[in-house]
Amino acid sequence: MDTPFNPASTSAYDAVRPAPRALATEAVHAGREDLARQGLHAPPIDLSTTYPSYDSRAEAARIDAFAADGAELDGPPVYGRLGNPTVARFETALARLEGTESAVAFASGMAALSAVLLVRSALGLRHVVAVRPLYGCSDHLLTAGLLGSEVTWTDPAGIADALRPDTGLVMVESPANPTLAEVDLRAVAHACGSVPLLVDNTFATPVLQRPAGQGARLVLHSATKYLGGHGDVMAGVVACDEELAGRLRQVRFATGGVLHPLAGYLLLRGLSTLPVRVRAASATAAELVARLTADPRVARVHYPRIGGAMVSFEVHGDPHAVIGAVRLITPAVSLGSVDTLIQHPASISHRIVDAADRRGAGVGDRLLRMSVGLEDVDDLWSDLDQALDRGRTQAPDVKGLHEALN
Ligand SMILES: *Cc1c(COP(=O)(O)O)cnc(C)c1O
Repeated sequence: MDTPFNPASTSAYDAVRPAPRALATEAVHAGREDLARQGLHAPPIDLSTTYPSYDSRAEAARIDAFAADGAELDGPPVYGRLGNPTVARFETALARLEGTESAVAFASGMAALSAVLLVRSALGLRHVVAVRPLYGCSDHLLTAGLLGSEVTWTDPAGIADALRPDTGLVMVESPANPTLAEVDLRAVAHACGSVPLLVDNTFATPVLQRPAGQGARLVLHSATKYLGGHGDVMAGVVACDEELAGRLRQVRFATGGVLHPLAGYLLLRGLSTLPVRVRAASATAAELVARLTADPRVARVHYPRIGGAMVSFEVHGDPHAVIGAVRLITPAVSLGSVDTLIQHPASISHRIVDAADRRGAGVGDRLLRMSVGLEDVDDLWSDLDQALDRGRTQAPDVKGLHEALN
């Protein structure tokens, strides 16, 4: 059966898939190979929630097959929660960029992480070993045990010793949100032994780092950030082998955290400019890092060895005054958009983490996190420059600031 609308699962599609291509080429072609054959250029958006079928015996067999291994349905879709052709295009493309067999998309990054935890705990493997810092809500989900998991926090060197017979997952972020701390993914993957390693690759994107090639079995993205890239779509995705993808699809089907097809379309479009956006913003970020490092108003700059468009820095003055003073830069949580965003992690993105745990993870009260966009570097610097001046003049005495921040 010819099923051009389900690019991830058709053997016809595999037959036309060319040899491996460079990332920039995959970014604009992956998940779209069937379009020319259909006489299309832009991918169609399929908004159907259900699909007609006159052969209910065949449907029964396909649903049995999905229940067995969670493989994507062969042939026409059945129901939106079982899979959507537009979303499948994004999944195909992201898997290709991350170098994994499969990818499974969710309604948000947190829905994606929740599905991973549910897949593992359904096997009785409820223990998670994790390295701080993680994104604030990921930390919260694990620490609060909201899905019945139990977490052991450790540093990368302590992972092997922290593993237990019921450990179902090891989780790291690199570069980490918001300190941009990096871990040696190969060494961590080695320490995990047979326990799957999940790397949150939201900050690096596959343009800068492909964790699956370094031993991660699961690569998670808040696709809300760089993959979408324009601050107008919320999504999550897990890139992994087909065995785990099947389990994730089954959990997605049963728990309902599906991605909307319009979001799938926007993400596929976002991927096509991902390499260009990440490289351009990273070059601007590197220049801002140089200027911030040389600036006496700045105590410390955090920037990862692999580069990227995220910059964190600690100010001598009042971080809240800096946030209040930016005019071109948007004072907002989130990241990875075409415009530059700045926020105070201790107040927003990592507020939900206990203050002592937060500080212990290196998220200080004077730390600001900036997501560098595509604006001109001198325009960004002049905005930062005047905002840093405000931070300096409005800084209360050190004791007062300390009390204000506690
Ligand atoms: C934002 C973020 C998440 C959560 O993603 P949502 O799409 O907001 O649910 C997870 N990890 C990292 C590193 C993030 O920045």
